[in-house]
Amino acid sequence: MAEPNLQTGPLAPDRTRDRTAVLNQLMLSAVVVALAALGVITTPFPGDIALFFLGVLSVFVMTALTLLIPWNRVAVGWMAVVPAADMLAIAVLRASSPPSGLGLLWLFPVMWLASSFGLAGLVGGVVATVVLFATVVLLDPAHHVTYSTFLLPLVLLALAASSYLTARRFAAQRSLLDKQAQVLAAALERTRRQEQEVTEVLDAVDFGVVRIDADGSTAVTNEAHGRLQRALQVGHAPAAYQDDGTTPLPPDEFPLERALRGEAFSGQLVWFGDPTGPRHVLSVTARRLTDTAGHDLGAVVVSRDVTAELAALQARDELVASVSHELRTPLTSILGYLDLVLDDPSVPVAARRSIEIAERNAERLLAIVADILAASRRPHAVTAQLPIEPADIDVRPLVRAAVESMLPRAAERRVRIDDTGVGEVWAHVDAHRLRQVLDNLIANAVKYNVDGGQVRIDAAVDGSDVCIEVTDTGVGIAEHDLQRLFQRFYRGRSVRSSGMTGTGLGLAISREIVRAHGGDITVRSEPGVGSTFTVRVPQARSVP
Ligand code: ADP
Repeated sequence: MAEPNLQTGPLAPDRTRDRTAVLNQLMLSAVVVALAALGVITTPFPGDIALFFLGVLSVFVMTALTLLIPWNRVAVGWMAVVPAADMLAIAVLRASSPPSGLGLLWLFPVMWLASSFGLAGLVGGVVATVVLFATVVLLDPAHHVTYSTFLLPLVLLALAASSYLTARRFAAQRSLLDKQAQVLAAALERTRRQEQEVTEVLDAVDFGVVRIDADGSTAVTNEAHGRLQRALQVGHAPAAYQDDGTTPLPPDEFPLERALRGEAFSGQLVWFGDPTGPRHVLSVTARRLTDTAGHDLGAVVVSRDVTAELAALQARDELVASVSHELRTPLTSILGYLDLVLDDPSVPVAARRSIEIAERNAERLLAIVADILAASRRPHAVTAQLPIEPADIDVRPLVRAAVESMLPRAAERRVRIDDTGVGEVWAHVDAHRLRQVLDNLIANAVKYNVDGGQVRIDAAVDGSDVCIEVTDTGVGIAEHDLQRLFQRFYRGRSVRSSGMTGTGLGLAISREIVRAHGGDITVRSEPGVGSTFTVRVPQARSVP
């Protein structure tokens, strides 16, 4: 990027002093030339013409010197010699013809001294002029000191003071401008460095970044974006497909097209390449940028190659699905044979108790396998809704049935389940699915409880929702686990190390079910004290 060079000073030769000297001296000599011409034309000359031309010559000599001397290379003080010599020359001119008012020419050197040499120049110039003027006046026997004798020195003094003040103001402004220029240069340098840092960071990351301006032009792209484009364009431009990998993506649904239309979106999956050949899948996110006044500044589009990630997820789901499928058949057979054994009245009571425990655990195992299968059949179905058949039902008997089925397991750990807080509340839900959610929440409340702990279930109408709460006095959930609890296969850190069995699917499936009803499930917890899971589902449309 080209930068304006704001630097003046040592690099660029400063010709200011040359210019000041030449300008001041030329102004004086121009006036003197005019006066000399008039002196020749005017006859008779009112004074001593020889003396007059001596003065004129002196001014010319000083002008010649001024033009020849490189003032920037000599000390500043030397430049004051020129106006000083001019003063003497003007004194000669004034003496050559006292009535002509040539003393006015002192204005030039006095103003020069006052504006270029500060207070010393002002005082020196005025004092020298007054002394010269007084000398010339005293040497002139014909001059009578009158009221007007003082006019010239006073005017010179006023003008010199005004030049001095103007010069000071100008110098102050200039120094302010210099400072501002320095600040500006530093700010520019900082911005340039920041821009460079941002570019380096952008080039270092492995996701593509495109910055689109408000007019739709591409302002910035990083290296990763170029790499992604090259990887996709091997041979010819590849066909693009929607997130299912098979439906062709219409041209106006391409992420960049959408961003150019002003849309903001996140995680749009686009498959590139035919389903039969090698393919890449990109996850693309577009964010709108606005200034502080809310005006649109364009967008940033970020794309990431998630081919390997999706392949890994798919492989995991396939493995989980096939393992669970393989487990289901022998499990069903085990349950069948256990049933047959229990049907036999000759089985002794002690053996019957053991077989019943085995049957309960086998049933639990079958439920787990069913959960895993259900989850892996719907691997990345973000948009596909879970099928539900809602109807207006009373929640109380549903809770009661879920509690009853959990009582044997609760008894093993001496956990008391209290559902007296469940009133007669009617919800518009799929009873089978809601039972699945309740089973899971109550099972967790018992499983993650302490021996001899408590579980309380409440249900009440809250606005247009029915709110069901399952509260336990168990181990609680750590802050870092809370955010990920509802992700599939996620299990709490302490739970994983404790050896407690589980799949990490129950809450994910529960949330999916509740959301399919248009509700939500949330959790509050305090480690060591207990947790409360809250389910919100729509209230019944007509309460009997
Ligand atoms: P699973 O119980 O099979 O591990 P879930 O999806 O039902 O899977 O639960 C996920 C995780 O949430 C559990 O592993 C556990 O860490 C945590 N959790 C769920 N319910 C509770 C609870 N009532 N108290 C403490 N932790 C819980």
